[in-house]
Amino acid sequence: DGFESNEGVILIAATNRPDVLDPALLRPGRFDRQVVVPTPDVRGRKRILGVHTRKSPLAEEVDLDVLARGTPGFSGADLENLVNEAALHAAKMGKDHVNMTDFEEAKDKVLMGKERRSIILSDEEKKTTAYHEAGHALVAKLIPGTDPVHKVTIIPRGMALGLTQQLPVDDRHNYSRTYLENTLAMFFGGRVAEELVLNQLTTGASNDIQRATKMARNMVCQWGMSDKFGPMSYGDDGQQVFLGRDFMQHKDYSDDTARLIDAEIRRFVDDGYQRAKKLLTENMDSLHKIAEALLERESLSGTEIDLLMQGETLPPQVEEGSVRRAAKAYEDMSRKFGDTHPVADSAVGDATGEFKLEEAPPEPKPLAKKPPRDEE
Ligand code: ZN
Repeated sequence: DGFESNEGVILIAATNRPDVLDPALLRPGRFDRQVVVPTPDVRGRKRILGVHTRKSPLAEEVDLDVLARGTPGFSGADLENLVNEAALHAAKMGKDHVNMTDFEEAKDKVLMGKERRSIILSDEEKKTTAYHEAGHALVAKLIPGTDPVHKVTIIPRGMALGLTQQLPVDDRHNYSRTYLENTLAMFFGGRVAEELVLNQLTTGASNDIQRATKMARNMVCQWGMSDKFGPMSYGDDGQQVFLGRDFMQHKDYSDDTARLIDAEIRRFVDDGYQRAKKLLTENMDSLHKIAEALLERESLSGTEIDLLMQGETLPPQVEEGSVRRAAKAYEDMSRKFGDTHPVADSAVGDATGEFKLEEAPPEPKPLAKKPPRDEE
């Protein structure tokens, strides 16, 4: 404020919250150009990866094109983190080059949070989680046009006991109603699987239910996707409370309309739920197979789930076992020789940042009793 027009001063400012800026700042003549910096597209990601990997010793096989294509939605910071984590992983394995497998591990960690192998789940909890995640994954696999399943795991990560990770094929900017309806069914896959197989309801699905309800509400109130209401916007949900702005949420419809809106949201939610139920009931065989494989292996890739659904048996886990043995051997060695390099991962990339638990070395199964480890 207070600049004379002839002073030749250029004012540059950046914000992550353009939604809460004072309208006075946004008037013509204040900031004449607005440059939006979105998350990078595939070409941007390749260049960013190029910058961050400049100093890393990459193996020949590492293809930045493939990495860029496999990381839609990653921000520049995420990509930097990915490169760091991959390098840490390679060092942990005692390699002097960073391979594609290191990047794969790093991607899981950046996407799904750090594994918390120190949490010990009872067999009952494990079974529930396995069926829950198998339900999500199977529904996603059975509906064409949903994002491909990247990985399913029942190893606790971050706040979750298990995770089904989907990765979009492309950068998405726009979502169709069909896509959202499919996603609703996918959200309920977990709860429905628990219900059908174990005949119980657990609190594990609360996050799914929350997300599904919120999505259904937006479909009706913001995106005009309800046939009944048509393209109308109800309630300015996106507005943030800021200084002088109204503190109470603004409601621009009658109580009767509110009831109708609730009924319409309910319809979207119910449809998704019923669809998940039908799909899982018809494919109970696959559900059992995936859940059992999860209990045995803890993590499954999208390809492995395809194999199970086709009735194939999975190839033995030879390679992973040997990598884990190598990691274990490396750790034993460094403990013996008092290596000061931390073997457990540092807090880098711990997205949740709330639990600073020492990460146990990768091992096939969490042991019931673990010898206390010294802080490195
Ligand atoms: Zn779930």
